[in-house]
Amino acid sequence: MESLTSPTVTQRDQLLVEQQVFSLFKTFYNMPPSSQSFMLELQRENHVEYLTNGLKQLGPSFCVLDANRPWICYWILHSIALMDEFVDPELEDNTIDFLSRCEDPNGGYGGGPGQASKFGILSLLTSNMPHLATTYAAVNSLVTLGGDKALSSVNRMHDGGEIDVRACYTAISVASLLNILDDKLVQNVGNYILRCFKVGSHSSFSSTTVLSEHVGKESVSCGLKIFKNAKRDQNLVGHFVSVTGSIAHILNCQTYEGGISGEPGSEAHGGYTFCGLATMILINEVDRLDLSSLIDWVVFRQGVEGGFQGRTNKLVDGCYSFWQGGIFALIKRLNSTKGERSIPLGDGEDSDPESPRTTASSDATEEGLNKDLSQDDSHSQKDHHDTSSRVNVADIGHNSSKGHAKVNPLFNSLALQQYILLCSQDLNGGLRDKPGKSRDHYHTCYCLSGLSVCQRSWLEDEDAPPLPHAVLGPYSNLLEPIHPLYNVVLDRYQEAHEFYTSS
Ligand SMILES: [Zn+2]
Repeated sequence: MESLTSPTVTQRDQLLVEQQVFSLFKTFYNMPPSSQSFMLELQRENHVEYLTNGLKQLGPSFCVLDANRPWICYWILHSIALMDEFVDPELEDNTIDFLSRCEDPNGGYGGGPGQASKFGILSLLTSNMPHLATTYAAVNSLVTLGGDKALSSVNRMHDGGEIDVRACYTAISVASLLNILDDKLVQNVGNYILRCFKVGSHSSFSSTTVLSEHVGKESVSCGLKIFKNAKRDQNLVGHFVSVTGSIAHILNCQTYEGGISGEPGSEAHGGYTFCGLATMILINEVDRLDLSSLIDWVVFRQGVEGGFQGRTNKLVDGCYSFWQGGIFALIKRLNSTKGERSIPLGDGEDSDPESPRTTASSDATEEGLNKDLSQDDSHSQKDHHDTSSRVNVADIGHNSSKGHAKVNPLFNSLALQQYILLCSQDLNGGLRDKPGKSRDHYHTCYCLSGLSVCQRSWLEDEDAPPLPHAVLGPYSNLLEPIHPLYNVVLDRYQEAHEFYTSS
């Protein structure tokens, strides 16, 4: 039996990773400058070759990802786009055709050809398998490819779906990208996310409470409207998904966390915090979050290695360069678009339940509330939101010349770039979680996305190129800017935005 002073498994794993990373850093700093330059250089050609090969042919070991094939397309295409490269026309056509074969006749995209179709072989086992996550991946892939053929191939959304913060994000993100986001679609999504939001010591929600809400039997409408095609993109009709839950009681609790969990009662997590924050911005309810608490949580997720961990007491992982780093990009843009009015630090909705929140806009929203919800007195005015300071979503991605806020990054962007380039980069192509792990397309995508965020973290004017000192390594490491709400390259987003607003 271990003594009380023995390190725990978690502590041992952490020490091991620190040793690996610090030994790598030590080797790097003992190298001559020319070798250091090479080590810090983004190996673009090797990365593009690795990624392009993945789009053409994958080995047998990838069979476990058979239900995630649109995701593989997105990870690869987005990574290539970040490096301002394109796939050749034949491969592009093949990818569009492939994604079309993943599309369900009734809307949405499944994990692969035949997985979604009611007429496919799998329909013998299950009737409907389109998935919000793969729909998000397919739409982002097609937006990234760009051009009429790719963009016009998106003509159906799916009916029904899973429920958690990621599902909210993927549905709202897709709807926003396709220009079909409306008030009915977002109804009550904010309330759901708030229940997944761990606020500070003045929290009105506890893990116990939100868990009992989630597993209760009374149906409360989440208001997350999953949509399906009627005629064309703009004529989508929706269906409501309900969240099973009831509010049995509310207990006060104190927690040191400020992040967002996947579901009420779960642990705060980087991916879900990004998804929750992005969704709240997209539906114009971000002021309801306690951003001070959220920022407090995320700044402490950057470790001594320079990279981010996804949760408290977890190991550093390259993919959180985006999931956590993207949160800083959203906060920064939020500040920029609000101009003089900075983010409401320390003034989350639940910290001051006495604040008057109801406005004419939220009264209008209330008309659409589900009956089950209106019967529950615990959903009082504090569940409504102040829409008086709405953010223009389009401004989040490219805030042009207005309202630049001089905000220094709230994380160490150079340390994160150092972690990505020295610890996550495989010099033969591809990026990885941490030293000792293998490269993969997922980590390549999110390490590169995080690197792009880092390189622009000091920018006051988003239209200007980053200064050389903000880009670690040679300036040729500079990647394309992303739209942080969708994680697609900005000019690809702009093309899609114009396409879907004009068609
Ligand atoms: Zn990871």
